[in-house]
Amino acid sequence: MWFRNDLRLADNPALHAAAQAGPVICVYVFEEDPAAARPLGGAAKWWLDKSLARLSEQIASKGGGLIIRRGAARAIVPDLAAECGASGVYWNRRYEARERDTDAHVKSALKAQDRTAESFNGSLLTEPWTVKTKSGGHYRVFTPYWKALLSDYVAPPPLGAPEKLSASDLSSLSIDDLSLHPTSPDWSVEFSDAWTPGEAAALDRLEAFLDGPVSNYGTDRNRPDLDQSSSGLSPHLRFGEVSPVTIWRAVRSRIDTGEIGAKDAMKFLSEVAWREFSYVLLFNEEDLEKVNYNRTFDEMAWRRGDDEFRAWSTGMTGYPMVDAGMRQLWRTGWMHNRVRMITASFLTKHLLIDWRRGEKWFWDTLVDADPASNPASWQWTAGSGADAAPYFRVFNPITQGQKFDETGAYVRHWCPELAKLPLEYLHAPWEAPEDVLDAAGVRLGETYPRPVIDHADGRARALAAYEALKTKQDAA
Ligand code: FAD
Repeated sequence: MWFRNDLRLADNPALHAAAQAGPVICVYVFEEDPAAARPLGGAAKWWLDKSLARLSEQIASKGGGLIIRRGAARAIVPDLAAECGASGVYWNRRYEARERDTDAHVKSALKAQDRTAESFNGSLLTEPWTVKTKSGGHYRVFTPYWKALLSDYVAPPPLGAPEKLSASDLSSLSIDDLSLHPTSPDWSVEFSDAWTPGEAAALDRLEAFLDGPVSNYGTDRNRPDLDQSSSGLSPHLRFGEVSPVTIWRAVRSRIDTGEIGAKDAMKFLSEVAWREFSYVLLFNEEDLEKVNYNRTFDEMAWRRGDDEFRAWSTGMTGYPMVDAGMRQLWRTGWMHNRVRMITASFLTKHLLIDWRRGEKWFWDTLVDADPASNPASWQWTAGSGADAAPYFRVFNPITQGQKFDETGAYVRHWCPELAKLPLEYLHAPWEAPEDVLDAAGVRLGETYPRPVIDHADGRARALAAYEALKTKQDAA
């Protein structure tokens, strides 16, 4: 069994099939070659480090051992199969072009050795080629995609974890040999307060979410100031510690028994389907993280703005909602969805900086950095993507803060230097009178930055650039 983005024992189709076929040896290969797969960012490596440790313990509890290698899977997997005389190799499919290419190579190498190579769907509800439009193409707009998925999808029955796994005398690296935990500096010190990687923690989180918060998901999901306004399952899904199929079944069965209301619960499943939709785009668009889905954007006059990019990435733009989000990201490896939209809009619209630079920053700092959802969401926000936000939608970081952080708890937590400001001025401190700033201990430009750009100016500049692009597009 070759583990990849499916670090779990239960409900794992490839592992289940391998166990049916005979004794199973478990393997993980850490790829570093950008030609074989997109190299993981720092925060995702932190997650992988802990997740592999949990997987390894689980495998050991079944009598097996996780064989870890580093390097090119194309050579390593067939070599390992030959070394231990495996009759076949089993894995769950991946969907990015480079990964597919790697897997195809491994498959032919195994076939050439007269071994079976069997692959399965272990990380999606429906694979990217399954839900088709009437004309046979792929969906480019989410709502009709979701309707089509909903009308056809039936979750397969659950698959138990194998009873027993096999030990082997194949040589293995230790997890520490992969050096996945960040050092010099270790900026992940607070991650473990926020997260517990691994299959058991993923299932606990799902259960806890379905036991309560899901019932208010429809309204609370936009509220970063509330604890547990969303499930927090994204990194678990990213590494396959829980499958979306398991989530789907758990939600549907609680709806059927009347334990949870259908409206909020289905809204939650529709968000899970956004992940699926991102995979449709990833599968059909090579280089989603590099190439504008809408090629007109190749002509966009992005600004360089290195100082502004630094202010954005370090949470020092002078816009509290943006800064709170960027600091939450740095400190916990995660950011609330509403704030991801606000911060991404601020970078691409107010600062007019190329979405690809923001995407890369998120890729490196998110524990849930996902090869499909991250570039697809950035392109959506920038306006260059499929089913993109209209180009003239420039999120207003002040009113977004007032509306979605209505208690101010989010900004007060992540920007403690503003904690004493009255709510009235919290999302726009530069509008506060001097005596209010004094009383709150805020000195703009010293204890907290002045805005890197005036909101009205940033908005006007973005609209002008986007309109110029549209004019070019219309003329073409
Ligand atoms: P919930 O609201 O509980 O949703 C449940 C699950 O549905 C999530 O765990 C996630 O797997 C999926 N989901 C929810 N919203 C979306 C969405 N808009 N697009 C795709 N899947 C979604 N999500 C990632 O998993 N990885 C990323 O790298 C990523 N990058 C993003 C970058 C930007 C600029 C934006 C705007 C969004 C990004 N998202 C990404 C989507 C979304 O923000 C996160 O999935 C969500 O915040 C995770 O929190 P949660 O698990 O509590 O979500």
